[in-house]
Amino acid sequence: MAATGVQDSATIVNNLISDYYRSAADLAPDRISEREFGVGNYDIKIAQRHMSFPSERELRNYLSANSVPYVSASAAYYRFPSARPMDRKGWLGSELVFDLDVTDMDLACQRSHGKSWVCAICFDEVRKETARLIYDFLIPDFGFSESEIKVNFSGNRGYHVHVSSADILKLGAAARREITAYISGSGIEFGDLFRVGSYATASDRAGKKLLGPRPTDLGWKGKVAKKFTESLNAGIDSLVQIGLDREIATKIYRKKELMKLGLNSGNWDMIAGIKSKEQVWKRMLETMAIAQGDRIDSNVTNDPSHLLRLANSIHGGTGLIAKKLRSPRELYRFDPTKDAIAFRKGFATIDANTTFELRMNGQKFGPYGGRIRVPIYVAAYLYLKGYAKIAAVE
Ligand SMILES: [Zn+2]
Repeated sequence: MAATGVQDSATIVNNLISDYYRSAADLAPDRISEREFGVGNYDIKIAQRHMSFPSERELRNYLSANSVPYVSASAAYYRFPSARPMDRKGWLGSELVFDLDVTDMDLACQRSHGKSWVCAICFDEVRKETARLIYDFLIPDFGFSESEIKVNFSGNRGYHVHVSSADILKLGAAARREITAYISGSGIEFGDLFRVGSYATASDRAGKKLLGPRPTDLGWKGKVAKKFTESLNAGIDSLVQIGLDREIATKIYRKKELMKLGLNSGNWDMIAGIKSKEQVWKRMLETMAIAQGDRIDSNVTNDPSHLLRLANSIHGGTGLIAKKLRSPRELYRFDPTKDAIAFRKGFATIDANTTFELRMNGQKFGPYGGRIRVPIYVAAYLYLKGYAKIAAVE
């Protein structure tokens, strides 16, 4: 690209976006002609919807010609995707979609850097959470196969998961709500998992014993028992994290081996001397359920006509690619700060003001306060996040 001292930051970034789309590969979702599209500008992410494209070529040309900063596609398939209002589109079915965003997670790092900045810990935690949704819930509990699950980075601070199994395409909003409720643990009562039983003989121990799930149980029961066993192995801090008082956690941890023996046979009452046991376990369960529920944006899952960022399109708030992963398994090694970079060639001079270090492409950038020369992807990222102006590109 030629020196462009006279261009402003917006023009420079628009040119980068246009260039990206000119050669972008794998942009079309399956059954592209049955999808509704929406496009946005820097102020409104979906400013215009009810659009459709007959093929990838038309889509790519449109995005390149208009330097579109945000493009979304429906999780739904329609006979007439551009018809309006919605009920004239002729709904044919919808993928089941999940939107995981790090801003829904309560991370300690966010309290120092705020919600708009995304640090390495943020990226890592939301990546692990997405893997957990797929490998702890969607595959074992719902029986979906890896090949029916598509994952893409959102382009900013999360991931989108699309399930396109034939079994779920026709599910309505109510059935989708049931799936959300299951995954967020919101419908589970203490009594579904635990019950109070009696010891065989009165001399075994005073009182009643608490019978609960075993690690080998299916669904939520097994998850609760496994999570507790994991926390027990990891130590006192882990037990506190799942909702136990530190004093109780310490007592339990000291008798870890005894507790584990009990858990394997569903006896959650192996530790003597803890008062109000039911309350302790109930709180633990509640803590676990909330921890999972907060991280799934249930509006997306429950609305079959929702539009989501098009996989492999540019995110206009970062200049990163909403990169499509080859398989869900790629989550275990995916790094958006390397793998989702769109603008790889060239450098820019920027006037930047940042408080935190930015890591991209394996390097550290900043904090900055003034004029600096950086790779073009760093310039675009900081400009689009509102931390820099681009003075010139080379
Ligand atoms: Zn963070």
